[in-house]
Amino acid sequence: MKKRLAILGATGSIGSTALSIVRRYRDLFEVVILANDSGNLDALTAEFKPKYALSAAKKALYVDGLRCEYRDILSDSDVYADIDIVINGIAGIAGLAPGLAALKAGKTLATANKESFVAAGALINSIKDSSGAQIIPLDSEHSAVWQCIGNEKHNLKTIVLTASGGAFRDLTYHQLKNAKAADALMHPNWKMGKKVTIDCATLMNKGMEIIEAKHLFGTCDIRAVQHKESIVHALAVMKDNSVIAALSMPDMTLPIQLALTYPMRQESGVAELDLATLGSLNFSEIDEHRFPCFRIAKEVSRHCDSFGCVMNSANEVAVKAYLDDKIGFYDIPRLIEDTLGAFSEDTDFEDLRQVQSMDKAAAEYTFKRIYGGLDVI
Ligand code: MG
Repeated sequence: MKKRLAILGATGSIGSTALSIVRRYRDLFEVVILANDSGNLDALTAEFKPKYALSAAKKALYVDGLRCEYRDILSDSDVYADIDIVINGIAGIAGLAPGLAALKAGKTLATANKESFVAAGALINSIKDSSGAQIIPLDSEHSAVWQCIGNEKHNLKTIVLTASGGAFRDLTYHQLKNAKAADALMHPNWKMGKKVTIDCATLMNKGMEIIEAKHLFGTCDIRAVQHKESIVHALAVMKDNSVIAALSMPDMTLPIQLALTYPMRQESGVAELDLATLGSLNFSEIDEHRFPCFRIAKEVSRHCDSFGCVMNSANEVAVKAYLDDKIGFYDIPRLIEDTLGAFSEDTDFEDLRQVQSMDKAAAEYTFKRIYGGLDVI
């Protein structure tokens, strides 16, 4: 029996990698839903012939190849009824509603959408637990943790995530002050979308991954260490101080393929690790002075989801402005702290509407701080 897939964010980096795995193992998978927010879906629709094809940017919906009146089917649990695995490769908070719908339908959600966990991790877990759904992490670090822990969650003491350090790893504080988004888009180890590339350069990405790990693995004992080679993806320290690590060449094919083929593994085309050729692996502390976004996210990880939601909204707006060259590198953490200061409520959310309303309010606040009183478009 083929596994039936929904691929959300089909033309992004996660979706493209998932589709290349499907091409390699056509006898194992069938694509039932293809969706994206930008870019052209026509070629992929012709190739994979999904039952549903949805392009949010074009406001186009095709069912069985026929164009229908557009509606956002991805937030409707019923659409996932025949799906085995929903792959959530949507960037940003936009990935939350489809992820929650997949969980409500009791499906396996393979997700790389860390913003959802940051803004609404407790809500995600409560819906998952009540429907009996399963979450498989696609993020390389979280897939690594998941593999390290295996069925020994009861023995876990500490999670250690690794950080490549991002494009600006070796810059001084003064150089970072003047660093432009365009420079960050040449990331050394991983090929990713623009938003996550900037999040990697500020280390907000690593801070968000700490919050994501808290919700995925049910522990607050999580650290991160800089490891520029991106060969060790994460480590699990057990109660006896034994450490289990997951290593591979840095290639997103591996975590995505494992999520699709689990509990089996298949040949991946990714090169085998050659430790003697690599020679050495380096680890160091993350510099919170140069990368304040990491410190902010760590502090937020000790709070309820409303803090994460506000931080995420402020970050999304600030990163967009940084990409547009409207603000500087250190304006990003300044705007996030400023916005966090304006929203002091510390609570978890009961439904999606509450998350969306706080997300909107925080985004508007940050936007006004940048552009001086204009409304969010
Ligand atoms: Mg990651």
